[in-house]
Amino acid sequence: MNEARTCIKCEKPAIFHRRYSGESLCSNHFKESILEKTKRTIAKYGLLGYGDRIAVGVSGGKDSTSLLKILSGICQEHHSEIHAITVDEGIPGYRDESLEYVHTVTEKLGVPLVVLSYQELYGFTLEEALANRQMKISSCAMCGPLRRRALDIGAKKVNANVVATAHNLDDVLQTFYINLLSGDVDRIRWLTPSQKSKSDFATRRIKPFMEIYEDEIVLYAYLSDIPFQSIACPHSHEGIRSEIRAWLNLMESKHPGIKYSAFKTVLAIADGLNLRKGKVVQTCRNCGMPSTSPLCNVCQTIQIVTPNR
Ligand SMILES: [Zn+2]
Ligand SMILES: [Zn+2]
Repeated sequence: MNEARTCIKCEKPAIFHRRYSGESLCSNHFKESILEKTKRTIAKYGLLGYGDRIAVGVSGGKDSTSLLKILSGICQEHHSEIHAITVDEGIPGYRDESLEYVHTVTEKLGVPLVVLSYQELYGFTLEEALANRQMKISSCAMCGPLRRRALDIGAKKVNANVVATAHNLDDVLQTFYINLLSGDVDRIRWLTPSQKSKSDFATRRIKPFMEIYEDEIVLYAYLSDIPFQSIACPHSHEGIRSEIRAWLNLMESKHPGIKYSAFKTVLAIADGLNLRKGKVVQTCRNCGMPSTSPLCNVCQTIQIVTPNR
């Protein structure tokens, strides 16, 4: 940020300097640039089409509330349907606060909201699940499949065929490095802008923010007057993600644009992997959902947490 610069579009004082492109922008033109970039991403990768009914996964944080605001505006222009889905994992002191933000923002934007809880879907909260875990599995690894399943169930409930999540460019890069370092090649396949469903049940997944840097979304959220929860999930520091985030930010500060270059490489690798034959998708013997093992991740977790059920 540099107060002495002026906006390249209107000559008002700039509030943001995009180091990798050299653009300086005022508040309005910065917000416009985020909207335009989101629209360009949607067009470039064909993320949305006529008649799509969208469910947006909303956590109440800066990314998902910004995405809901932008997508609700786009849907209004196209007269298409949009719903917000919030998953209540049961994280005391964290999720209860974010639910208040979600209620406020969805009301403000006039978007219908569905809240689904782990308790009602699976019969336990994330806290209970973590207390009962018998093998060494990170909280995010345990929570991820449960969240994804909950979003699919929510989308089905509101008859949506697309689930939009607010993963930004930094999220995608961090996930790539986590998978690279843990040897989880198959998950690198998922790092595409759009992921087709493996069954009639699962919806198409899209990531309209995946070409936008995290710090730009933070600024967009602040400038857009949308309330959001600023504390992070209490489990977010448990994995190596925060170390990878710090390293990537250090690299970007020394070499502006390096994150975007790396992102393009990740997309190419993911595309290449998707051309190869992946693990065979079968049907979970317990719940009938698509799975790469006889018992899906969700049912495996349920079995670990509630062994006597
Ligand atoms: Zn301007
Ligand atoms: Zn299952």
